[in-house]
Amino acid sequence: MIIDLAGKKALVTGGTRGIGRAVVLGLAAAGADVVTCYRQQSEAVEALTEDLAKTPGDHHVLKADVSRGEDVDRLLAHCQSVYGSLDVLVNNAGAISHVPFGELPRDEWRRVLDTNLTGVFTVTQQALSLLTPRASIVLIGSKAAGVGIPLRAHYTASKAALTGLARSLCKELGPRGLRVNVVAPGIVDTVELPPEQAAKYSSIISLGRLGRPEEIANVVAFLASDLASYVTGTTINVDGGT
Ligand code: NDP
Repeated sequence: MIIDLAGKKALVTGGTRGIGRAVVLGLAAAGADVVTCYRQQSEAVEALTEDLAKTPGDHHVLKADVSRGEDVDRLLAHCQSVYGSLDVLVNNAGAISHVPFGELPRDEWRRVLDTNLTGVFTVTQQALSLLTPRASIVLIGSKAAGVGIPLRAHYTASKAALTGLARSLCKELGPRGLRVNVVAPGIVDTVELPPEQAAKYSSIISLGRLGRPEEIANVVAFLASDLASYVTGTTINVDGGT
């Protein structure tokens, strides 16, 4: 049994770096056509565009900030014009910062919530009319949401909210055949950490190491596929056993 996404049309938010990049390349390698977006121009955009050009399929990389309604409208209009419909939606774009709760400015609270929660609401709501029967919606949450981390109350609050969103949406959209799930990564090596910090994190992980972006992408690809046809409303922790 292999994951085959041939013929499927996918939208992945925040696909130019880290986990999103691995998800985009993983879905495309499994045969899907993929639209993805980013917030700001960078070398990562060029690198992903080059990699996708070498991957068979009709792929598109667009500048669109999920926290801006007009950008989301443009993103979904692009999906409609190039694909006509969507089989897979992966809400991956995320923002984080480390600030003591007592000093957290309202603007920073809003920035993180606007991206991690309201962005998911806006993109998912705008995508509804494009989603095919049996389409798969994946929300990238965080293992930290159920654990808590000092200095990241705003981040964990936004990620915890995704669990409730997925639970309600699976019930509301299930009768249409749509599936909605959360993938909750543990600590993933998207940025190079100082060796001391990496060792400290690894010591609390059963598998003794940080996750790789591809290991999150593999689970997303499964959920995107028909192999997961009876999986909905659940959160899959991909955390190496923390
Ligand atoms: P990165 O910061 O490495 O990459 C984030 C990607 O999302 C980039 O492509 C970025 O584009 C894009 N992005 C950020 N904000 C926006 C926005 N407002 N609109 C559109 N695109 C945006 O993130 P990670 O790969 O580390 O994280 C991906 C997801 O996984 C996030 O939701 C994160 O919370 C979650 N996660 C990550 C963990 C980890 O250990 N890395 C652990 C648990 C969860 P640009 O370069 O233009 O900013």
